[in-house]
Amino acid sequence: MHSILAKAMETHTLSKNEIVFLLGNTLPFEEVCSVADIVRHQYVGDAVHLRGLIEFSNICKNNCCYCGLRRDNKNIERYRIEPEEIIQMATTAVQELGLKTIVLQSGEDMYFTTDKLCFIIQGIKKLGVALTLSIGEKTLEEYQAYRNAGADRFLLRIETTDKEVYARHDPGMSWEKRANCLTNLRKAGLEVGSGSLIGLPGQTVESLADDILFFKEIDADMLGYGPLIPHPDTPLKDVPKGDFELAIRVMAVTRLLLPDINIPATTAMETLCPDGQRIALQAGANVIMPNVTLTDYRKNYELYPGKSNTGYTPKKTYDELVKKIESIGRYVGTDSGFRVKRQAIGEDTTCRM
Ligand code: SAH
Ligand code: SF4
Repeated sequence: MHSILAKAMETHTLSKNEIVFLLGNTLPFEEVCSVADIVRHQYVGDAVHLRGLIEFSNICKNNCCYCGLRRDNKNIERYRIEPEEIIQMATTAVQELGLKTIVLQSGEDMYFTTDKLCFIIQGIKKLGVALTLSIGEKTLEEYQAYRNAGADRFLLRIETTDKEVYARHDPGMSWEKRANCLTNLRKAGLEVGSGSLIGLPGQTVESLADDILFFKEIDADMLGYGPLIPHPDTPLKDVPKGDFELAIRVMAVTRLLLPDINIPATTAMETLCPDGQRIALQAGANVIMPNVTLTDYRKNYELYPGKSNTGYTPKKTYDELVKKIESIGRYVGTDSGFRVKRQAIGEDTTCRM
């Protein structure tokens, strides 16, 4: 084994140069993946946690240059699902599929006031499951209100730590403000999820190494990486799509440096590569977020084109996933899959549930 991989496996600490080396093409892709797979097995075991994703509104006040939901995209049928129907969708997903976590995701849609969101959170928490939100930038008070209503986790990707690249692709937004949201999420007592887009124009391997070091510094609990998939109705329509193998390498190195966190095999990975989620599961990932939004709405939640499985019913999506997970000797997690901070296998230092 290469000495840098051995060091990462043993100490879970690398310098920026060492990370850049692992993200480059010097070491074989398979070698980096297999070491991440070993560390994943050692720290979080063989369970794959399934989080049922409900995309409850595609209305967004922001204008991110990569995203099909951006406000300037007029070529999209906008929808929002009313609170009662969201709770009903979650109830069906939990009762029919036995999911242990529900993830609510949307554009930044101001219709969903704190009161409405807390009503939804309370309704879903009655089902006895963990609840993750992915609804964008809010104030500390709002994050605290969601936590008090029962929310457990929050996903907010920083997208990139290169502030110049961020400013170019997220007009009207501020990198510092987004980073401060991550601090506030932690203050509010929510598990903090973040991550990056891989393939933004101007992004470098060095800046991806900075992303991983940033996530280690903030001690993120969950990290998801999406290779950029250019959307035809956005300013990035003509840029090359993100590099699948690079996205997997970033994810694998993340597993080496933050060994006990939750890492999804993302839908964008599966969309870019037919076997992408399986490859990700064997390169450090331990989470999948099957879409349980009803099929009618799903086609309009087009962050990027070709989103994998958009035509499947929730049951069909779920059944296919279970087959995939079992075919590689893994099993579907039976608990809520909170991050458990570990020094080494079996030694829990904190446990939230
Ligand atoms: N509005 C919320 C949540 C929905 S967007 C937010 O922005 O945080 C969720 C994620 O979709 C974004 O963080 C971004 O990383 C990803 N995304 C958007 N457009 C994409 C594209 N074209 N290709 C791949 N991922 C994309
Ligand atoms: Fe809105 Fe999120 Fe898309 Fe940005 S990435 S336009 S905030 S939905």
